[in-house]
Amino acid sequence: MDEEWKQILKQSITRPEQINRKFKIDVSSLRAVISKYPMRISKYYFDLINQVDDAIWRQCVPSPLELNDPFGFDDPLNEEGQSPTLGLVHRYPDRVLMCVSNKCATYCRFCTRKRKVGKQVINYSKETLEAQLQYIKATPIIRDVLLSGGDPLLLSDEQVEFALKKLRAMPHVEVIRIGSRVPCTLPQRITPKLCNMLKKYHPVYMNIHFNHPLEITRESERACSLLADAGVPLGSQSVLLKGVNDNPDVIKNLVQKLLKIRVKPYYLFQMDIVRGTYHFRTRVETGINIIDSLVGHTSGLAVPRYIIDSPGGGGKIPIQPDYIQSIKSDRVTLKNYEGKTFFYPQILPDEEINQIRAPSLIRNTKWVSK
Ligand SMILES: *Cc1c(COP(=O)(O)O)cnc(C)c1O
Ligand code: SF4
Repeated sequence: MDEEWKQILKQSITRPEQINRKFKIDVSSLRAVISKYPMRISKYYFDLINQVDDAIWRQCVPSPLELNDPFGFDDPLNEEGQSPTLGLVHRYPDRVLMCVSNKCATYCRFCTRKRKVGKQVINYSKETLEAQLQYIKATPIIRDVLLSGGDPLLLSDEQVEFALKKLRAMPHVEVIRIGSRVPCTLPQRITPKLCNMLKKYHPVYMNIHFNHPLEITRESERACSLLADAGVPLGSQSVLLKGVNDNPDVIKNLVQKLLKIRVKPYYLFQMDIVRGTYHFRTRVETGINIIDSLVGHTSGLAVPRYIIDSPGGGGKIPIQPDYIQSIKSDRVTLKNYEGKTFFYPQILPDEEINQIRAPSLIRNTKWVSK
């Protein structure tokens, strides 16, 4: 008999009529969308929907707007152009992203790899995987390998272990990371058997993906606990999505809940310019305001880095609210989280000019209490 997660996956919602069994909406317009961008919603994730158009619905139920995107690109980050072998993106000097699966437990409507997830366009065969591993083996500057997809954890434990074992046998591969959304969309996939396997290949990190506090349930908490107990450090990569999580209260609630299940909020992504995702896009100012609402107001552990992945493939660029008002050779003027101004005197042991000016600098610095 199949493992529980495979059975749950078999009950996935893949046809519009299945949505109709629970929600009475006109699904006829969805057929054309699904033929271009496949639908799959795990039964578990579907059951998190409370009502039509809520934050869970918007992430997983197709919208006719996907076919009405005048500006998107199929591959805005030029992943294909930076792939020395099929499915392996080598963009940064010391690390690679390795697509090992084309399937996910739930297809996110805003996915950056919308051009290929769930489609037959690409066949991740054993030969594809072998070619990727061969490239990594032959490229000793790679010290960090990120298994991605699709979702690597839609492969069987044995298939995942095959890749991990090969990677661990390469001395230059120091860190292995798995990017997976199953702790959120199919938490039953995280089993003691999987965790016992993963921990043989440490250091194994996991980048998981939660976008809304409603996704943090007893089941996802159980999945994250199993992973954390197996020594797998967990970080969440969230995507800023219009109508889903584009406000400070939702994100604050999300990041605080993540810390409670031992997940460090790692990145908050600005939407890539992906074809078919126009309706999810927010202004960059919205993201900056969200980060500003977190910094200082809640624990530093809870604050993710807000990222724009440069169109064309230049890599991830961190974006921050501006806390620096000016930098002079002897004094930095800063703004704190409440908007108050503070001065930091630059008095350094190896700079004579500062030694001479130090007494007056200190004297004139308002915050020094005598
Ligand atoms: C995101 C990404 C990585 C990993 O980036 P980190 O900032 O190290 O998490 C590596 N390669 C590619 C192509 C990526 O898109
Ligand atoms: S789980 Fe990740 S790869 Fe899969 S559809 Fe969602 S965003 Fe895309």
